[in-house]
Amino acid sequence: MIKIPRDYIIEKIKEKSGLSSQEINDKIKAKLEELSGLISEDGAAHIIANELGIKIMEAQEALSIKDIFAGMRNIELVGKVTRVFEVRTFNTPQRSGKVGSFMIADATGQTRIVAWGNQADVLSKLKEGDVVRVKSGYAKENQGKIEVNLNDNSQIIINPEGVTIGDVKTRENSQRKKISELSNNDQNVEVLGTVVQAFDPRYFEVCPTCTKRIKNQGLVFKCDAHGEIASPDYSYVMNAIIDDGSETIRTIFFRNQMQHLTNLTHDEIINRKGGSFEEIKNDLLGKIIKVIGRVSTNEMFSRIELVAQVVDSNPNASEELKRIEAEKPVAAKIEIVKPAVQKTEAPKQVEKKQVFEAPKPIPKKEISEDIIRLDDIESVDDDDDIYE
Ligand SMILES: [Zn+2]
Repeated sequence: MIKIPRDYIIEKIKEKSGLSSQEINDKIKAKLEELSGLISEDGAAHIIANELGIKIMEAQEALSIKDIFAGMRNIELVGKVTRVFEVRTFNTPQRSGKVGSFMIADATGQTRIVAWGNQADVLSKLKEGDVVRVKSGYAKENQGKIEVNLNDNSQIIINPEGVTIGDVKTRENSQRKKISELSNNDQNVEVLGTVVQAFDPRYFEVCPTCTKRIKNQGLVFKCDAHGEIASPDYSYVMNAIIDDGSETIRTIFFRNQMQHLTNLTHDEIINRKGGSFEEIKNDLLGKIIKVIGRVSTNEMFSRIELVAQVVDSNPNASEELKRIEAEKPVAAKIEIVKPAVQKTEAPKQVEKKQVFEAPKPIPKKEISEDIIRLDDIESVDDDDDIYE
């Protein structure tokens, strides 16, 4: 059974019939009444589409990622590889084997491709930016997201001839919020602000095979999946305080996000282990960045924190200004602006300038430099930049 959301069906009907949402909803309601108790609203939407001769699923050579729903089989799609994850081996009483995955994106969205067993070998040949054609996959839902799994009949063609992919959509639309509006468990929120404080990074040992954090057990490092690790790899995390004029928030940048934030490569960061970070921290101060992430609560300090998942350390100034203009409440546009006593609104000061300036930080009580809780790190390996 393919699960197609009703909104998607209504959109399709709208697109092909020229009816308004209201008209379509009326038809759905009428159908529900006509067949009371026999069908769901989704079912009624399907019937309306049918009656209007509109095909919801069209046979296409390759599907757009936004048109993939759980339950679909025999899927063919084409996309650009945006990330390749490590192949992992597993060993459970039920089965053992290996599994690997990678992300692909097209102009409509992004999805994860999961390869089992020998199919996972293809991952070693994949790199970011490759175009892939996936044949005969099946879609299922995993933690609220659709992913395309490969079976023995599936095929992956790397850089098929004559196929190019332009701009891709690599993340869901995030919601821009002021820091003062953030609340615990917010997901996919976007903040634009100035770095007002940056802290030294912390390094921690990870398993070279699965990149999970490993702990020192007695004299040796052990990975739950891969046993004793003679020479661990290292990963890292850095904290910074961001201020957008409404509030400040401590923001946590794991590995890839720390690379984006500092514009340093993995090797450059590793080489600085034990060395000084003063210069890099100084460079960050006053820098305007855009962060998309999720909000979590730090129990120990009873405050919320932002865990960065996408970092833009060089946001496009004119784009941001346009956006701030567009998001300004209508009332604010016609109101005569009083002399700004409180500097809480950024747009007024920057309207005519080319360069974007963030609002001046409000003086804050001193922020003590507390340590990052490494105990929270175990779960970050894949969680970190899932949208990229
Ligand atoms: Zn491991």
